[in-house]
Amino acid sequence: MTRIPHYINGKRVDSSVRTGPVFDPATGAVTAEVGLASAAEVADVVQVARGARSSWRATSLARRSDVFFRLRHLLTERREELARIITAEHGKVLDDAAGEIARGMENVEFVAGLIHLLKGEHSEQVSRGIDVHQVKQPVGVVACITPFNFPAMVPLWMVSSAIACGNTVILKPSEKDPSAAVFIAELFSAAGLPDGVLNVVHGDKEAVDALIDDKEVAAVSFVGSTPIAEAIYQRASSNGKRVQALGGAKNHMVVMPDADLDAAADAAVSAAYGSAGERCMAVSVLVAVGDIADSLISKVTERLGALRIGAGTDPNSEMGPLISKEARDRVTSYVAGAAAEGASVVVDGREQVFDSDGFFIGVSLIDDVRPGMKVYDDEIFGPVLSVVRVGTYEDAVELTNANPYGNGVAIFTRDGKSAREFEFDIEVGMVGVNVPIPVPVGAYSFGGWKKSLFGDSHIYGPESIHFYTRSKVVTTRWPDASESQIDLGFPSNA
Ligand code: NAD
Repeated sequence: MTRIPHYINGKRVDSSVRTGPVFDPATGAVTAEVGLASAAEVADVVQVARGARSSWRATSLARRSDVFFRLRHLLTERREELARIITAEHGKVLDDAAGEIARGMENVEFVAGLIHLLKGEHSEQVSRGIDVHQVKQPVGVVACITPFNFPAMVPLWMVSSAIACGNTVILKPSEKDPSAAVFIAELFSAAGLPDGVLNVVHGDKEAVDALIDDKEVAAVSFVGSTPIAEAIYQRASSNGKRVQALGGAKNHMVVMPDADLDAAADAAVSAAYGSAGERCMAVSVLVAVGDIADSLISKVTERLGALRIGAGTDPNSEMGPLISKEARDRVTSYVAGAAAEGASVVVDGREQVFDSDGFFIGVSLIDDVRPGMKVYDDEIFGPVLSVVRVGTYEDAVELTNANPYGNGVAIFTRDGKSAREFEFDIEVGMVGVNVPIPVPVGAYSFGGWKKSLFGDSHIYGPESIHFYTRSKVVTTRWPDASESQIDLGFPSNA
């Protein structure tokens, strides 16, 4: 059985006693096993990262920048290979895997300009003969804990920024699809990153707890489900660490009566069922405003019949399997329970039969959904789109704002005034106007509100530079000897 190694201090390491299975979701077969690090192994890796810290911090910004230019080149050259690795363990179709690499690379491009990003500030003559400047310095050792659904993009978002800022990193990817992280770490090494600056350690709760309890870890970046994000935020911050923990989502797409319903239906189908709904920015609630619901539902339903579901490696497939049997059982149970809750199942994905032992399920569309039903309240994380019918724009805003999650949202309209009001009114971190999946481009940052993010910094882009650095303010004076005097008063600037 193939063993997926850790990557520590520039080498593949195969030390763990406990292991977990890695599946090909398209066949249901176990294709490899991954070592699950013990707390003692994690402690050793933290020491490796600690040991690499001072020389990486002292590395010139020009040399650091060079690593990212070369990494971008390598990622471009080997994008197809990485996409195949992602598809083999995650199941998403190859085009989608290539898409996540492209979005991850946006942050590599962003931090390649690190000389600008790490500029400080300087004020001359704040008092007589006194200047002040502020510098941004790395926080130290950073732990990055990532989810299964973007095994390349989320690691690239986190580790690129942390390393660019002069930190050393321990990446703990999802144990469900761990190979992409090792591939990326090896590309970093090939791009010239010194050993020990980026380490990959696989594992489960034991490894994560060891990381967030280790006193040498200064900052923790986490992306995953809300209950785990909240627990990580509380535990790591009570250990005195800087934490950003991004959680789950329930993204609403509001369709106004004046919207182009064909465009809205295309967008809803793409955003709800792409990557089998296993995206934190997937649309899972379609909010039909006014009297358009019947027409919108019939347009969405027409499109569902034509969707091609199959192995991610098949170029004809538009949607692949779910990550695991457990994930499929979970999705099945929500669709099975919807009618008893009072909703109407318009398309039942359980009815589609697949000639495979893979973790496939068809797409589902559920109408007459309301808050209080499990199908509305929970993050399903599968190919299930719920329709909530509301009377007015105000009802749509009230519904969305009352939802505990606040990751992404979209409005579909042809009226600029409604769009502007929506942007003003809505309590969600990322908003799309006629854009169903508003993942910000790399020069901005990514993050939700409410139960979708614990902590106050978004990831990648400018906010990540803030998160991975500490600012130091230096006040300077070069007085003549004759100006020296004793003065017990509090220094006032005059
Ligand atoms: P998950 O919470 O199960 O796992 C995330 C990470 O935490 C993994 O590395 C996992 O090994 C680790 N982990 C799991 N259980 C743990 C525990 N009890 N203690 C400590 N660590 C633990 O999430 P997942 O299923 O891998 O990913 C899907 C979830 O991630 C969805 O909820 C999705 O919305 C969310 N997500 C959010 C964003 C965002 O930006 N907000 C992006 C991607 C995914």
